[in-house]
This record gives sequence, structure tokens and C-alpha cells, in this order.
Amino acid sequence: MASEILRIHEELTSGKISCTELVKAKLSELEKNTHNTANFLLTEIALEKAAKVDEKIKNGEELGLLEGIPFGVKDVFLVQGCPASASSDFLKNYKSPYTATAIQKLLDAGAIPLVKENCDSFGHGSTNENTVFGPVKNAVNEELVGGGSSGGSAVNVAKGYTTFSIGGDTGGSIRQPAGFNKVYGLKPTYGRVSRYGIMAYASSTDCVGPIASSIEDIQLVLNTISGKDYHDQTTFVSEPVDLTEAIDASTLSVGYYTEFIENEGLDAETKAEFLALVDKLKAANIEVKPLNFKNADVLVSTYYALVMAETASNLARLDGSMYGGRIDGDSLKDSYAVTRSENFTEETKRRIVGGNQVLSQGHSDEIYTKATALRSQIISHFEQDLKEVSIIISPVSPTAPPKIGGSLKDPLAMYLSDIYTIGFSLGELPTLTAPVVTETGLQITATKAQEELILKFAKFLNEII
Ligand code: GLN
Repeated sequence: MASEILRIHEELTSGKISCTELVKAKLSELEKNTHNTANFLLTEIALEKAAKVDEKIKNGEELGLLEGIPFGVKDVFLVQGCPASASSDFLKNYKSPYTATAIQKLLDAGAIPLVKENCDSFGHGSTNENTVFGPVKNAVNEELVGGGSSGGSAVNVAKGYTTFSIGGDTGGSIRQPAGFNKVYGLKPTYGRVSRYGIMAYASSTDCVGPIASSIEDIQLVLNTISGKDYHDQTTFVSEPVDLTEAIDASTLSVGYYTEFIENEGLDAETKAEFLALVDKLKAANIEVKPLNFKNADVLVSTYYALVMAETASNLARLDGSMYGGRIDGDSLKDSYAVTRSENFTEETKRRIVGGNQVLSQGHSDEIYTKATALRSQIISHFEQDLKEVSIIISPVSPTAPPKIGGSLKDPLAMYLSDIYTIGFSLGELPTLTAPVVTETGLQITATKAQEELILKFAKFLNEII
């Protein structure tokens, strides 16, 4: 698909449509939508910004590429003066005191925020059913889940309600819903985009990235939101991604993990489609190397031990005294207990309890310290492999999106379904979901800061498949 941003830019600059008309049409689609994607519409600020863009057009001023382009924001980001609920009862009435860096950069470029998008509460989930705003329904089939946790964002892009959306990805939350709804989703290298102003889930793997319907739109948004930020010490300076020159296929070597593909949980059709791609790459004279990841299951246990520990710590700040809904009990301690028991969802409480167990005295050496040691091994494993190959391809999800209604009853099965996305999060590696090859897409990974290579490879794939 060609760039939607460019198409809309041309419509605006040629006067085919006014920005106000565009924004009104999108807001109305969002309002009527039956997929449960919109937690809050940002009508007032969107129309105010659209009027300014129209004024510029009227005065014959030049428009930047993102100026007047409507976008969505996962409801875990702060946008000053607007609600930020994390799809929880806790923060349902909370208003943001400042704006997240990534969103501010888009506002500075003139893009128009339309909606705070439904997601799994605090990013906890793989289906977008863990939300107090009702489960997000898949863009292709409303009986199926939208994927999580950035499900509302992916469905909005797939349905064309937003031109692009900004999601958060701790262990797959951009990539998996992008795959479930057949759009592109990029988790950048950890630190490429500032996390300032996104509610922390697991700070050591939280990433901010775009969901869009084309590779070019991913590139444009990524270049806008990247960069060093005084407020986030993990951020680094990055070169803008430039896609003008095509990839030199003769220099490529592509790897894939045999254990990912021989995994008995992997859907047979996805496996066959993935292996057919391997054959096509070989037919295009590209070197393809099978790689080993013995004990791929360790990815799930390591990831969940660490993220539960981190989320238990991060969410300790929500006790009713500083933010969100407070419920008074008989004593201060009682107030904390009632506030937290009533306001968090079951899935979030499961993770807080699990995380506190992981960190508790007597268990932390066995679980937390061991998980951090395993993570170091996982990181060096990927680093070694990415010296052998320039790109790693993998499935996004072992199975097709499940029907709405079942997944939260079997959390372990839900956690296991994250097997293909979470490793690259632990490795801090940039990874794109492209909506190609299998029903739930294909993941493309490269070494740190190599987003340009990934996006060029995705373009190349579109030519050969
Ligand atoms: N499904 C994963 C989890 O629940 C990833 C979620 C995310 O990236 N926010 O942890």
C-alpha cells in the first residue's frame, strides 16, 4: 500500500478536502465504530488544530508532510489536559498534566490527535480484553480479538479511522495487534524514542512506536518521534531512516530460528507459509541460515518474571493518594487496599501479586536475579546471531487471533502466545511486523539502530512475494 500520509497531504494542499472536513469525518467514524477502539475523542483540540491548518492553506503557506494528518494515541500516553486512563477504572477520570515527548514531536510537526485508544489495561495483555472499555474487536472479523495490548490503535489504522497511531510495545504490543489486523507496526530499538510521558509498564523493555498502513508512513512517523530526550536517559541520537536507495540483496543474509518453526504450538499453515518464504528467499539468491535457540520457552518465563517485577514496582505509585480514583477505608492502610483491590483489573492484580512474589525476600535470588542473568544470556545470544546474519525473520504469533471471550480465563496460554515477540524486547532490538506471508504477518529484526535495513528489507519482500 502507498503512503496514506502523502495521499492526504496532496488532498489537503490541492484543496480537494479541508482539514476540518477531514477531521470531522474521522471523528464521526471513530464515534460510530463498533470495534470499541475509542476510549476518548479529542474533538475540541482536534478541530482547533484543523482550523489552524486550514488557515495556513488559505494563506498559501507551505504545509509540512505531517501537518493536518489525523492520528491516534494509545490511552497510556499523556496529552496535556486530555484523559489518560490506561483503560483502567483507576485512571478513568485522570487528566494528563503534560504531554509525552513522542506525542509532542508529532504535535510540533502539525499532526492532529483524534483519539485516546483502547488498549489492555496498563499494557497487560495480548488480546485487548483486559480493559474497562469493552474488548477491542478485530478489524477483519468482529468475533475475534483485536490483539493486545495496542489493539485499539491497530484496528483504527486498519479501518482507516486514523492515518497512523502511536502504540507502546513492552513485549509485542505494537507488533502482535499489527499482525492480527494486517497493518505495519514497528517496535524501535530500545531508547530510540523517548518513553517520557508513557505510563511505565516494564521500564527496561517499554518502547514507543508507530502503527501504519505502509512502510513509508512508518518511516515518516519514526523519523519524527525519534531522538535524544533530556527526560529519558536511555534515549540516543539516531540518523533519520532514508528509503530512497533500495537494499542490495546480494549483501543480505537472513536467519530464522528452527526452534520457533518446529515449535508444536505453531499453527501448521503459518509454518508452511513461513517455510515457503524461506524457499522464495533462497530462489532470489539470498543466503538463508537456520539458527538455534535451544529452549525457546525460557523466553516466556524470563520475560514474565521481569515484567511482572517491574510492573509491580511501577504501579506501586497508584494507591489513591496521588493519582486517580481513591476509595476511603477505615484506616490509611485499608484505604490503600480497597483502592487498589477495586480499581485494578483481575489481570493487572495477577501481575502485581506475581511481581511482588518475584521480588520478595527469600525468592528474589531464585527468580528475579536468575531472570536478569538469563536476560543477559538472551541478549548476547541475539548479538552473536546478528553477527552471522543481517536480518532475522520470525512469525508474529503461533496462532490466528482467538475468539473474544476466552483468553483471560487461561492466562498461562495467553502468556505463551507471546513467545515470538518477547525475545526481541528483552534483546532491545528493533523489530517490524509486516502484514505479509502468514495470516498474522511476519517479524523482521536486525541489530540495534538498524531500522533502515528492516524497512528496506520489508520493501524488498513486497517485491519478491
Ligand atoms: N502481551 C505482552 C504482555 O502482556 C506484551 C504487552 C505489551 O507489550 N505491552 O506483557
